[in-house]
Amino acid sequence: MPSNPRANLRQARGRAGWTARPTRPRLRPAPEIPTEPRRRPVWLFDLDDTLHDASHAIFRTIDRRMTDYVARELEVARDEANRLRTLYWRRYGATLLGLVRHHGVDAHHFLRETHDFDVAELLRAERGLARLFARLPGRKVLLTNAPRAYAGSVLRELRLHSHIAARYTIERMRIHGSFRPKPSQLMLRTMLARERIHAADAVLIEDSARNLKSARALGLKTVLITRHGRQPARRRLAGSYIGLRIKTLHALARRTPR
Ligand SMILES: [Mg+2]
Repeated sequence: MPSNPRANLRQARGRAGWTARPTRPRLRPAPEIPTEPRRRPVWLFDLDDTLHDASHAIFRTIDRRMTDYVARELEVARDEANRLRTLYWRRYGATLLGLVRHHGVDAHHFLRETHDFDVAELLRAERGLARLFARLPGRKVLLTNAPRAYAGSVLRELRLHSHIAARYTIERMRIHGSFRPKPSQLMLRTMLARERIHAADAVLIEDSARNLKSARALGLKTVLITRHGRQPARRRLAGSYIGLRIKTLHALARRTPR
């Protein structure tokens, strides 16, 4: 078969390394980066010691009513009732869980009895929250371990009720028959799926480090609010799970959560 002289020459050049000189990188057109419309944040607000200063007077009232309830229903002395209330709150994130799990208490009865008081005269909060919520872009969701009726009263007093698109209170944190309040990741994932929220778009604003840590592990942005409660303890809190630390909610309009 007659050989092709040009092909032979190319082969010979290749073998001799003639083609080994550095080749200039060919300029390729930049890849098309899909430009998604920038998604708005979804703000997940805790209630107590976040939207208002529950430590000012409301927590004291709730604690007293819970201790009374435990003493009455479990027929124990007030000291023991107080110990159980604190123990369950620390262990489960809500006194209710311990009472249901260990004493078969009726959850709705407990919540009704312990939160049935007029919040108006005890409430203390930042001024201008309704104006802040009106101009803060994005959906606002309430995410609290507190009961529905109490949360509703606080939101109404703060004039925030019409700004909150969805409310997740302890009654809605029931999964397969068990209460799963914050910091439950199962509850957080379920809530995000139900509300069709991408974890990366969600910002949790909280006073509780434990709750922020759990949310951060799921990819949510996190904001620690340090204004209320035991302030020195909050100021000392540090950790990579805290994306942003603010003293007042008004700072949300100026600073970008991470
Ligand atoms: Mg709180």
